[in-house]
Amino acid sequence: MSHTVRLFYPLIDEDDARSIAVALDEAWLGLGKHVYEFEQLWEKRFSLEPGHAAATNSATAALHLALLLSDLEPGSEVLVPALTFISSVSTIRQAGHIPVFVDVDEDTLTLSISDLANKVTPKTKAIVAVHYGGEPCDMPSIMKLSQEKNLVVIEDCAHTQGSVYKGVPLGCWGHFGCFSFEEKKGMTTGDGGMIVAKDPSHIARAKHIRWLGIDKDTWQRSSTQTHHGWYYEIHELGYKYNMNNLAARLGISQLSKLDRINSIKRRHITTYLKRLSGIPGLKPLLPYSLISDPSSSYWLFGIRVAERDALMNSLNDNNISYGMHFTPINEQPLFKESISTTPVTSRISEQLITLPLSPGHSDEEINYVCDVISDFFK
Ligand SMILES: *Cc1c(COP(=O)(O)O)cnc(C)c1O
Repeated sequence: MSHTVRLFYPLIDEDDARSIAVALDEAWLGLGKHVYEFEQLWEKRFSLEPGHAAATNSATAALHLALLLSDLEPGSEVLVPALTFISSVSTIRQAGHIPVFVDVDEDTLTLSISDLANKVTPKTKAIVAVHYGGEPCDMPSIMKLSQEKNLVVIEDCAHTQGSVYKGVPLGCWGHFGCFSFEEKKGMTTGDGGMIVAKDPSHIARAKHIRWLGIDKDTWQRSSTQTHHGWYYEIHELGYKYNMNNLAARLGISQLSKLDRINSIKRRHITTYLKRLSGIPGLKPLLPYSLISDPSSSYWLFGIRVAERDALMNSLNDNNISYGMHFTPINEQPLFKESISTTPVTSRISEQLITLPLSPGHSDEEINYVCDVISDFFK
């Protein structure tokens, strides 16, 4: 390979540039009608009624909104897997609550249902369920626990965009679903996110909180320019969490090719599984249980290997980028005072390595990565 194989590579076409140009031509770049249009298209894609989705400037913002909208008592305990990105955890603290780290299932690397049940206390009020790499959490068991213990369920869908699991889209099982359109995460808006909720009153409130708590945004004010159109009220503390028109125009064009994006990634994962599965000493990171489902959306392809550091060196020498998603988040200095035991997460994180997987990768690049790994194990 004459170039470095990137770890992530979004699929950007000319129609994306044309779509963004619409907002540039209109010279309305902030929160505006295209944000609403993108929300409506997202609702349609997930078969949701109008008023169930609000676009944000990141999944981190969407997660923070979901926790604020849950109205938990300050200092509540929120269960979260140890194998995740900082956003799943920092937002719990920012909302005034206590993250309690749960171990992952050895196989799926999503929340371990037995450890989840073990870590529920009278102070537990919510669960953040991360569909790690795109592998679905055991949602029927999580929803059952949520009903028994009266817990809010927030699905962190940063790794999946459109998978349907047991007949229900991921993001639509719990009370809230939070998606990411960050450039590495699948279909993209550069930076961006979406919160979906079962209860439309949550979304109405989310649209105020994302716009600094103001009850009418500038687009609504200018499009209802009657007497006193300038008037608005602020009833609660808000944040600057809105999506803007430029990002929404990119989101609209990217959403129209979401099926293509997901299917290219499935094709690459299938190549990896076919070419690497038989190698002794190497195991695929996930079961990829939804891989034959034409709706499914995965974010990561990874492997579990004992000789990880040596393999990383070999990938480096061959100009292949790789990743480590993630070091256990509860081992970060910020959380060192949190008492938790997550032995599976600690063990797996010493073996895992993530490989190039994006809709922008060519078949040739994926096969090159397989060649280098096969040679390493020879
Ligand atoms: C990337 C990521 C996020 C944050 O997404 P942003 O859109 O970048 O804020 C949240 N949760 C998980 C699990 C992630 O991997």
